[in-house]
Order: sequence, then structure tokens, then C-alpha cells
Amino acid sequence: MKETEVVARIKEIAERLNQLFPKVYRTDRTPEEQMVFTILSQNTTDKNAEKCLESLKRLTNGDLKSVIGFSQERLIETIKPCGMYNQKVKAIISIMKDWESLKEKLKELPVQEAIKLLTSYPYIGTKTARVVLSFSFNKNTFPVDTHCYRVLKRLGIFPENRDKDKISEFMEEHFDTEFNRKFHYNLIRLGRTICRARKPECERCLLKDLCRFYGEKNFH
Ligand code: SF4
Repeated sequence: MKETEVVARIKEIAERLNQLFPKVYRTDRTPEEQMVFTILSQNTTDKNAEKCLESLKRLTNGDLKSVIGFSQERLIETIKPCGMYNQKVKAIISIMKDWESLKEKLKELPVQEAIKLLTSYPYIGTKTARVVLSFSFNKNTFPVDTHCYRVLKRLGIFPENRDKDKISEFMEEHFDTEFNRKFHYNLIRLGRTICRARKPECERCLLKDLCRFYGEKNFH
């Protein structure tokens, strides 16, 4: 597909997803809560991450920056249900230690530099950085998580071997903040409800006429 066709196809898909999921996702988490939540949510469910975030908020009396005053053992105990607790505690401590100045820098920096700064911290990858920058700093980023990646791959919009960061960069170049935030979240919604990893419900999917996976499945 040519670049202009890819852009037109994405717009069409996004419009249909907006009809399916008319409610726009907004978070009421503060930027530091979102930062910690995004770290906690790696390789676990949002429900688990939410529970652990609440436990951490209780432990710190709502001031997540004060995690640095607790022992690693205590913090590990608090976030254990989220898994990968050693790495997650290290990531949370190192980010919260710098949070006040980091937050100010993130507000000012252009997207690519903000991503570079965040990913210089341990265990913070580009997807985590992009989620935080989109939802808490209103930056134009397009995080590609496993749901987004699977759905986009099945739809066949991008070449099969296109990596996640390259997809993010394409989206950031061609679409604005609001579009990307909504499209990212709606792909996740579709991936959780219809285009699930196992047994996607293609027959009831409103994208099937645009989907390579569906086309191939029904051709053979
Ligand atoms: S048609 Fe099937 S594979 Fe394609 S997006 Fe819909 S659920 Fe996923």
C-alpha cells in the first residue's frame, strides 16, 4: 500500500472504531500516578496494576514520590501481585526520585527527546514512555502495545515485519494527538473484546471487509 492509501485506510478504520466505542477514554490519574501505573501494568492486567497502585498510594499516603523513603522489601511486598516486582520497584524508585524536575522537563521537551529522556531510566521502554507522554503530558505519541500490534498486523495495514517503534513514528508523523490517543485506545478495546489473541470473532467485527487476516482466512 502507498503511504496515502495507508493514511486513508487508517482514517476509515478509526471512524468505524469511533462508532463502535463512542465513549472517549480519559484518565483521572495524576501524571505521577499514570507513570507508576504504566510501570506496574507491564506484563500484567490493568486490574492488577490498579490494585497495586492503590496499595502504593495507601502506603505513601497518596504521595508516590515518598516511595524513596521505604525499603525495597516493603515496596516489593506491596506490589508483588503485579509480578516482575524487583524490576518494577527499581524503575519506580529511580523515576520518583527525580520526578519533580523530570516532570518539568517532560512538559517542555519535543516528543522524541522526551522519549529519550524517559527511556534512559531503568526498565522504561518506548511504549511505557509513549503512554505516559500521551495520557499525562498531552504529547502526540502512538504507543503500540500487544493488542494494538496484533490488530494492526491482522488488518495488514503495515508490512508484516514493521516494528512497533516504526509504526509509532509513522502514526506520529501523519496524525494528531487526539486522533492517536483515541485510535490507540480503541485498538486495545477491539483487541480485548473482538480481535482477541485466540479465537478472534471476525464474523461480528465491523472491520472484516478491510482486514487481510479475514480475507485470507475466507479465501483458503
Ligand atoms: S476481522 Fe477478525 S482479524 Fe480482522 S480485525 Fe476483525 S476480529 Fe481482527
